[in-house]
Amino acid sequence: MPVYRTTSEEETIALGERLAGEFPPGTTVLLIGNLGAGKTTLAKGIVKGLGAAPPEEVSSPTFTLIHEYGEPPVVYHVDLYRLDDAAAVATLGLDELFESRAVVLIEWGERFPELMPERRMEIRLTSGDDDEREIQVDPVRPGC
Ligand code: ADP
Ligand code: MG
Repeated sequence: MPVYRTTSEEETIALGERLAGEFPPGTTVLLIGNLGAGKTTLAKGIVKGLGAAPPEEVSSPTFTLIHEYGEPPVVYHVDLYRLDDAAAVATLGLDELFESRAVVLIEWGERFPELMPERRMEIRLTSGDDDEREIQVDPVRPGC
């Protein structure tokens, strides 16, 4: 489980670009961390690394819940922050996204573990002093 450290937004975007190469089509990635930890910033880098859109076009899906990049979609970016219960999440049709060949990035997905695919990547972001962030990448497989 590799751990990375970044000291700026730009470095986190660059890390996302590099990590994108490790996500085959169909990978679901949970982005886990407090508000402001850098989940959306890392998503910008992953979207860029997958060649789906430049980082400046990637914004937080907090209100829209799901953004898609690429035609056909190469990346879906989901934010479940505003949803309170599994019934509300179930109406989004996430399973269809999980079954697609797109990479699915999800913020706050760890709040609904039973609705997430058993096989996924988990990336934990932790804020340190000032602009420091620790970013830990863990593959999760059924039975682990
Ligand atoms: P989240 O989606 O986790 O709520 P965002 O990515 O939207 O977080 O916001 C992260 C904020 O922290 C941005 O304002 C960004 O400029 C700032 N920031 C400072 N240092 C870093 C870093 N090393 N990596 C990512 N973001 C950073
Ligand atoms: Mg966010």
